[in-house]
Amino acid sequence: MDLAANVEAIQQRLNAACDRAGRDPSSVELMAVSKGHPPEAITAVAETGIRLFGESKVQEAKVKIPQCLGNLHWQMIGHLQSNKAKDAVHLFELIQSVDSLGLAQELNKRAEQMAKTLPVLLEVNISGESSKFGYGPESVMAELDQLNALPRLELHGLMTIAPWSQDAERVRPFFRKLRELKERCEEKLGAPLPILSMGMSGDFEVAIEEGSTLVRVGTAIFGERTYS
Ligand SMILES: *Cc1c(COP(=O)(O)O)cnc(C)c1O
Repeated sequence: MDLAANVEAIQQRLNAACDRAGRDPSSVELMAVSKGHPPEAITAVAETGIRLFGESKVQEAKVKIPQCLGNLHWQMIGHLQSNKAKDAVHLFELIQSVDSLGLAQELNKRAEQMAKTLPVLLEVNISGESSKFGYGPESVMAELDQLNALPRLELHGLMTIAPWSQDAERVRPFFRKLRELKERCEEKLGAPLPILSMGMSGDFEVAIEEGSTLVRVGTAIFGERTYS
């Protein structure tokens, strides 16, 4: 597999989507989702210039991250249980998958113990599918002030996983809804939330057209995973 060619192709599609949306490509960050792939593949992708990597399991990240060379930036994108919060705060620069006040409080406590501030995104289940983790849109609004009051957490934005579809156009309304929810959150907080993390291998171009600032691409860069 020619990982550099994959990255190049994604970058071109990303640029074209920005063109269509009248956006500057530098306003969209490309994360390589490396779950299920070994350190050698990660190093090969890092050599193309990508510095931001996403992992979804604490156990896997704990083993892999120390084996990856270079100055890489790691974010947690998978469901996080409170009993893994301590490891997560240690391993990751940002947690994208905060989906309850209880988890946020635990992360806050662990960050405090490590004398850190922890940037986080709130994961939103924007489609309401029962198989997905994440806040319902109205619960985000309801808990926003309490989340924002946690002294060791910094709210940087929202993240969502759109429903899977053959036809990426069908997920456009979900991306639009997340953008609108972000705007409502900003109004309530009276402060900007810079990150809108949405779009994966199958739908990142539509996500960019709808305002994504961070796309999480796994399969289209690394190929198929050995687990899903
Ligand atoms: C696995 C995963 C991705 C990447 O999915 P691909 O379809 O392989 O690009 C993105 N975001 C999250 C939260 C994931 O778990």
